[in-house]
Amino acid sequence: MEIKKNDILTVEITDTGIEGEGIGKTDGFILFVKDAVIGDTVQVKVMKAKKNYAYAKLEKVLVPSPFRVQPPCPFHRQCGGCQLQPLSYEKQLEFKQNKIRNNLIRIGGFSPEHIDACMEPIIGMEDPWHYRNKAQFPFGYDKEGNVVTGFYAGRSHNIIANTDCALGVEENKTVLETILAYMKKYGVSAYDETSGKGLIRHVLIRKGFASGQLMACIVINGNKLPEEKALAEELWKIPGMTSVSINVNTERTNVILGKKVRVLKGEEKIEDTIGDVVFRISPLSFYQVNPVQTKKLYGQALEYAGLTGEETVWDLYCGIGTISLFLAKKAKKVYGVEIVPEAIADAKENAARNGITNAEFFVGKAEEVLPQKYEEEGVYADVIVVDPPRKGCDEKCLETMVRMRPERIVYVSCDSATLARDLKYLGEMGYEVRKWRGCDMFPGTVHVETIVLLERKGQ
Ligand code: SAH
Repeated sequence: MEIKKNDILTVEITDTGIEGEGIGKTDGFILFVKDAVIGDTVQVKVMKAKKNYAYAKLEKVLVPSPFRVQPPCPFHRQCGGCQLQPLSYEKQLEFKQNKIRNNLIRIGGFSPEHIDACMEPIIGMEDPWHYRNKAQFPFGYDKEGNVVTGFYAGRSHNIIANTDCALGVEENKTVLETILAYMKKYGVSAYDETSGKGLIRHVLIRKGFASGQLMACIVINGNKLPEEKALAEELWKIPGMTSVSINVNTERTNVILGKKVRVLKGEEKIEDTIGDVVFRISPLSFYQVNPVQTKKLYGQALEYAGLTGEETVWDLYCGIGTISLFLAKKAKKVYGVEIVPEAIADAKENAARNGITNAEFFVGKAEEVLPQKYEEEGVYADVIVVDPPRKGCDEKCLETMVRMRPERIVYVSCDSATLARDLKYLGEMGYEVRKWRGCDMFPGTVHVETIVLLERKGQ
């Protein structure tokens, strides 16, 4: 059977692809259908046909899947943020666990028996909505020329006007409406990416879930806003508002934040607590976006680390020291390594703020700092924790870790494909996967965090 563009087909969705799309087959031909759910029978229109497969658009759900739920957000199909909203949460978790499992087997080369024997069930959320403590909303214009804010449509920079994202906190709406009203009142322009003109680009909103403190950082294409005091006063009326600031970004770039922050009212940083550790967070620092799950993730990392109070621990890719300070309470000594100098400054401040004296931090690349400290000072580790960005660990870093011969390695990963690659290497170098489990930090999306415990073989 030949399938070509604009064909209308009926297909049963039998699988979920890595981007969350539904997958169906007709006569051995594979169709990828965004927004279709495993178990649906759907009518689709072919958008792009290749020899053995095609991408198709969901036209109509003919028979809904038993796993299909009513998505809370009316914009979920246009918005690029959530890929799994119409799928029941239970099935989302199953999808994520399988995604990690498949990568460990396919890329890591582990046997299914081994992977299944050391799997612990994925950690889900009780309430998988409104979990994000951070959101960055772009400002722009709609077709009629009105100023709008919301989210980018998938694979584009067209803004879908929506001040009420189902993943964010309810205060986002009030902050956004306050800024829109201010722009209207004083005729303040939104930034236009094509011309590079206009003033307000984005607002970054953060909320400390434990502290209740709110931060609004307005990113502008200039140094100053008209009547900025009036705006700050209006924002200050929102309960919890602790930090109102301006971030200057005059570059023509997709990078949201510039380097300079100027406080309009209140503090530059807000505070939040995870477990019993207090963190001060600046607008520029990396901080996990799902605090409820972060606590569980770090708790699991701590359990896998198996600390008794006597251990020396290295925490590589430590950010503002979040995991390090969690570990420090149970270890003899913790060393943190991170590439961003501002994050290390925050890590030191956070250690002091919590009266933690057994944590030390180094600025630099993990793959440079660790080998250097090992060669020159012969540093030692009982346990090494790594939490690298999506690209995973550099081989030089892994090689040094192995040479340091820690008893245990705890690998926290936001990309199970690079995780599997690194575990394969560690496996060949004498470290065995003992336990692993997923942790759902990003419900509604295809992303998932994984935590793995490795032990030195022959122990
Ligand atoms: N563990 C922290 C941060 C994890 S995110 C937390 O849970 O909050 C990964 C961190 O790795 C980021 O802070 C990033 O700046 C840092 N990073 C990226 N490449 C690095 C490298 N080569 N060496 C050290 N740190 C790096």
